[in-house]
Amino acid sequence: MSSFPQFLSGSEIRQKFLDFYASRGHQILPSASLVPEDPTVLLTIAGMLPFKPIFLGQRSPEFPRATTSQKCIRTNDIENVGRTARHHTFFEMLGNFSFGDYFKEQAIAWGWELSTQVFGLPPERLVVSVFREDDEAFAIWRDKIGVSPQRIQRLGEDDNFWVSGPTGPCGPCSEIYYDFHPERGDEHINLEDDTRFIEFYNLVFMQYNRDAEGNLTPLANKNIDTGMGLERMAQILQKVPNNYETDLIFPIIKTAAQIAGIDYASSDEKTKVSLKVIGDHVRAVVHMIADEIRASNIGRGYILRRLIRRVVRHGRLIGIEGEFTTKVAETAIALSESAYPNVRIREAQIQAELQREETRFLKTLERGEKLLEEIIQQVKKEGKTEISGESAFTLYDTYGFPLELTQEVAEEEGLTVDVEGFNVAMEQQQTRSQSAHETIDLTVQGSLDKLAEDIHSTEFLGYTQPVSQSQVEAILVDGFSVEAAEAGTSVQIILDQTPFYAESGGQIGDRGYISGDSVLVRVEDVKKESDFFVHFGRIERGTLRLEDTVTAQIDLACRRRVQAHHTATHLLQSALKKFVDDEISQAGSLVAFDRLRFDFNCPRPVTPEELQQIEEQINTWIAEAHHAHTEVLPIAEAKAKGAIAMFGEKYGDEVRVLDISGVSMELCGGTHVSNTAEIGLFKIVSEAGVASGIRRIEAVAGPAVLEYLNVRDKVVKELSDRFKVKPEEIPDRIANLQNELKASQKQLEALKAELAFAKSDQLLSTAQTAGDFKILVAELGEVDAESLKTAAERLLQKLGNGAVFLASIPEPDKVSLVAHFSPDVNKKGLQAGKFIGAIAKICGGGGGGRPNLAQAGGRDPSKLKEALETARAQLLEGLQ
Ligand code: ATP
Ligand code: MG
Repeated sequence: MSSFPQFLSGSEIRQKFLDFYASRGHQILPSASLVPEDPTVLLTIAGMLPFKPIFLGQRSPEFPRATTSQKCIRTNDIENVGRTARHHTFFEMLGNFSFGDYFKEQAIAWGWELSTQVFGLPPERLVVSVFREDDEAFAIWRDKIGVSPQRIQRLGEDDNFWVSGPTGPCGPCSEIYYDFHPERGDEHINLEDDTRFIEFYNLVFMQYNRDAEGNLTPLANKNIDTGMGLERMAQILQKVPNNYETDLIFPIIKTAAQIAGIDYASSDEKTKVSLKVIGDHVRAVVHMIADEIRASNIGRGYILRRLIRRVVRHGRLIGIEGEFTTKVAETAIALSESAYPNVRIREAQIQAELQREETRFLKTLERGEKLLEEIIQQVKKEGKTEISGESAFTLYDTYGFPLELTQEVAEEEGLTVDVEGFNVAMEQQQTRSQSAHETIDLTVQGSLDKLAEDIHSTEFLGYTQPVSQSQVEAILVDGFSVEAAEAGTSVQIILDQTPFYAESGGQIGDRGYISGDSVLVRVEDVKKESDFFVHFGRIERGTLRLEDTVTAQIDLACRRRVQAHHTATHLLQSALKKFVDDEISQAGSLVAFDRLRFDFNCPRPVTPEELQQIEEQINTWIAEAHHAHTEVLPIAEAKAKGAIAMFGEKYGDEVRVLDISGVSMELCGGTHVSNTAEIGLFKIVSEAGVASGIRRIEAVAGPAVLEYLNVRDKVVKELSDRFKVKPEEIPDRIANLQNELKASQKQLEALKAELAFAKSDQLLSTAQTAGDFKILVAELGEVDAESLKTAAERLLQKLGNGAVFLASIPEPDKVSLVAHFSPDVNKKGLQAGKFIGAIAKICGGGGGGRPNLAQAGGRDPSKLKEALETARAQLLEGLQ
């Protein structure tokens, strides 16, 4: 067995690899960005990705051979980070590529030569794998290279067959592994045993095209694509137990350990994992930000955010208290700058982004810490010793508290955590989120819940300024968080800071515009969702993008109108107390652009005289130009000064007090005029009861008064034109008209009845004879029930001995019936009441009455004919 290979630094390995292939006709190309051109892939995951269009035949190569050291990020390996010796999120993949040039035999030969000659790996420590069916590769390794067949493993499709998609170029692979324990013998080689083997080099022989049916046809131009993990080779050559302890990463770990005041070597396994995660992720985020990715809630921005948060969490786990990511990032930048100068060029952005994200996340964690404290107090109060799994899960899920952190804090307090319960909650959450895929929560709230932990609460600037420069923190379309939205789209926008007032305390949200270089959004409403101000609007032109810097500007005219109404509401409350009852308190309010609505507790209506007094008083206050000013005070101080709290409002430790000097002092978060004179005019529109003990006054103030009066004035003018009288004569004119109308109606009724009589007289001739009786069955048209009855009476009188059955349709969906029988008919056993009841049923109704006279109604005129025929038949039969 030959000696161990020689130590090489990470940089030396990278350089030797590139030099080796450069001297064999390969063009050295710089690493492509972590943000791939290929829109179907989020991040660059392999050295071949930048060449994919060449391999797919979409682009012709500039050089037949190339070699690169490519920055890669594989998020699918994130759970392995720190746990296996060889997996990272960020790593460098060294590769050599042939575009229709050299092929399998050459690639294998160079791969072997590089490994054994350049890197000095002893051949007896190498094991290779080939695709199960690739006899050609097997033969090359055995016959040309001289590897013993026992050390050539045949692997299946999963491991050793590369495809770029369901169809297209594909081919078998061959991997080279390093054997840490050749003394264990060649009999039971299991390449999955990572205590013994590490895969460091993978050669892909792209030699087939796969069609839709799955048939493989040989490619005319065969390609080579390879990948060697730089960190893995460094692990081998630096004789360290894992990638993390190589010179490529370990300095970052040392910096982190130093900040935490711990020592890596003597740390326990858990701490080591955290340090490794920090070492890995810090490299990843430094390169991601250098490649201009910014933390956000979607796509690669989200990956960046998650990685930064994991760094912060693991920092906490190893005892780091304050902010530290920028310091470890500095080490990572220093480590990479010679190979990737852009990390130094973009240093300021990297530091700024980390700072921003870390501060944000620490705030979330702080909130979680508060909650944890509360939970602990509660558990103790209940005399328990265990924090429930559910609580631990909430901390984890909402506040980013890893279970270990909760456990640690609990331990300090002499408590334990129900880990099993935590796992159950976690599983439930997973099932929930799976089923949530089927029923996506389309509400803004649903998306906000998801966003809540990632964006910070909106800062409201609108008490003092109407415009702000703001950053777009989130864009929601149909309840989904998006990166950009185009003209014509209805959107909800969250900004970091805003002058827009969000609906609260009865005051409606501001209107206005959000604009940027080439985008204009009309804001139609603003609502508060927890700590966020959500601007509801429509993109008028251009495209709005996440993280855009925009100008947010409220519509000042609208704002002034709202302010007039809001301050007027306070005046109204004071006036009500003064003239109606000092006990009056607010039960609700609406403060809009065009009106105000004030609901208050009061057991009786406010009289018209009182309303007039109130209106006059308020207009006096307005004319007296009282200064109105707001200040933020501790609640106790505000109460001591006599400030009145509004019903149903929640107040914090600090409150905003509106002081209308000499009139009122009330707690209020809304926006107000600075002098009552700005209100201009106040007019009560209505007073009414809305619920038992609650009255409502609607009123207008400021410019809205003029609008209100104009509308009234127009109506009055129109009426006076139409009636040709002066406005003050309108009421009399209308009273006269009403009287005339009533008289006409009476006349009409009389005429209708007369008409019915006239008709019924004609009907006499249609009477039938049954035995000793006359029978008359008929329909009288639109006659009402009363006239119908009169007609029946008249007809029976004329008929003498017999039965009259009449019907009418007084209204489109109504049937009226009347049956009038002479006493002899009753003697024959026919009762008008019973008789009519049965017939009315046919028309979907009912009714009854005395044996001689009965009335009924129905709802189905279409059945009337049938009903009348039935009546006739029954009468004929019964009286025969
Ligand atoms: P493994 O099975 O060890 O995860 P892989 O089969 O996923 O490796 P390939 O996709 O063939 O690896 O990538 C080519 C080379 O890139 C590997 O041989 C290895 O050296 C390196 N590599 C792959 N994934 C990682 C990773 N997550 N961290 C570090 N190096 C990696
Ligand atoms: Mg892998």
